[in-house]
Amino acid sequence: MLDAVVVGAGPNGLTAAVELARRGFSVAVFEARSTVGGGARTEELTLPGFRHDPCSAAHPLGINSPAFRALPLERYGLRWAHAELPMAHPFQDGSAAVLSRSVGETAASFGPRDAGVYRRLVEPFLPRWDTLARDFMSLPSTALPRDPVTLARFGLAGLPPSTWLMRRFRDERAKALFAGLVAHVMAPLSGFATGAVGLVFALAAHARGWPVVRGGSQVLSDALAAYLKDLGGAVHTDYEVKRLDDLPPARAYVFDTSPTALARIAGFGRYYEHYRYGPGVFKIDYALDGPVPWRAEEARRAGTVQVGASSAEIGTALRAASRQGRAPERPFLITVQPSVADPTRAPAGRHVFWAYGHVPSGWTGDLTDTVERQLERYAPGFRDRVLARATAGPPEIAARNANYVGGDIACGAASGLQLLLRPRLSLSPYTTPHPAVFICSSATPPGPGVHGMSGHNAAKAVWRRLRQP
Ligand SMILES: Cc1cc2nc3c(=O)[nH]c(=O)nc-3n(C[C@H](O)[C@H](O)[C@H](O)COP(=O)(O)OP(=O)(O)OC[C@H]3O[C@@H](n4cnc5c(N)ncnc54)[C@H](O)[C@@H]3O)c2cc1C
Repeated sequence: MLDAVVVGAGPNGLTAAVELARRGFSVAVFEARSTVGGGARTEELTLPGFRHDPCSAAHPLGINSPAFRALPLERYGLRWAHAELPMAHPFQDGSAAVLSRSVGETAASFGPRDAGVYRRLVEPFLPRWDTLARDFMSLPSTALPRDPVTLARFGLAGLPPSTWLMRRFRDERAKALFAGLVAHVMAPLSGFATGAVGLVFALAAHARGWPVVRGGSQVLSDALAAYLKDLGGAVHTDYEVKRLDDLPPARAYVFDTSPTALARIAGFGRYYEHYRYGPGVFKIDYALDGPVPWRAEEARRAGTVQVGASSAEIGTALRAASRQGRAPERPFLITVQPSVADPTRAPAGRHVFWAYGHVPSGWTGDLTDTVERQLERYAPGFRDRVLARATAGPPEIAARNANYVGGDIACGAASGLQLLLRPRLSLSPYTTPHPAVFICSSATPPGPGVHGMSGHNAAKAVWRRLRQP
């Protein structure tokens, strides 16, 4: 009998499997798709030689992840590739606010009235960032905080809604950039603890940047899978699990799936019926015959570029998709240009680029024209650079990966208490009604993103159970 079976080979499933195998447990992973990776994969979606990340591409949480940093992933090919600037937030006048590795450069880009406010906001946390990241990403209660005082100070700054925190800024440059950061997890700007979301992304940029993976996000997943195999673990692909009976006998079953799918597979009835999913996204992957012609030169040097005129416009776009059931007229766009940092992604002189905007859950329309009109406002001539595009709305995104219910790439709404306490109001989020069944996907804390910390925390709950006499 195996010690543990993991269902789903996304970053969290693979990390959970590796953590268990490292501790001497026998582990097998079962993945529905023909390749491992879940939301961290790479494919030639458009033209030969253009290597696109259909899901995650920018990795502020990956490079800062305490779980990944403790694993020998470089030995298995992982290399982070940094653009000159982690992130830029351009405006239509050709200027930009930036998130730089340097706090000074970032603060200066916000203008004189907000530079000091920003410094005072982030500087107290930076010297203690590694401990804070570990403490914050291990909540609730999988480990005692190593620095409870800093964690408490961070809580005071971050638990209020981001709109409170943004009131400290006087000008729109800082407000818009910060609102955009919160929108990365598709949280409403006025939601509880959304200040913490913005702060985590900003601190991550100052600590280690927002890199892409050289060769594509698939390299990270392949590194995790190769390490797992060296530890004696097995990976079975093209194996969709529909019932617990589909799996071999094991002492523990760990699900890198949505709570809804887990309830269906394990027969948990209505156990997760209160779990809510958020809006979807409409994503376009582009093959370009040159770099994006951003008007702001900072945006040309950045790995990630946020596109939204103001915090109000970003808030309106999020509300349209999440509450009003309609696609925004001016979508807030998150865009990543991996080949600015990693020329291996495209033939010489050419580029891969992606952009997504938020749309209602399950939305079946085509947002291509709206997205490109929005891009043209900040990068005139963008359309002339397009060699090919691959579009995916909520139905296509959900069909690619069952975890993205209705196109929700966060595997659950990041609003209300569910931002922090997911998938249920519980201090042991990784356990389920069945003592041998666990959940480790991004539906558990610390939530969406490629960081493997949900898998790491869940593995801890599993090995504690397996070691019980
Ligand atoms: C368009 C898009 C852009 C994104 N951009 C970023 C970004 O730039 N940076 C970032 O950090 N994050 C980003 N994310 C989010 C990130 O990809 C996810 O938060 C992360 O992948 C979650 O990891 P996971 O292991 O929990 O689940 P997933 O990565 O979703 O993996 C789950 C795996 O389980 C498999 N599975 C599900 N059900 C079954 C079943 N019944 N049987 C067998 N296998 C099953 C799936 O096929 C999948 O491989 C993005 C996501 C999307 C979709």
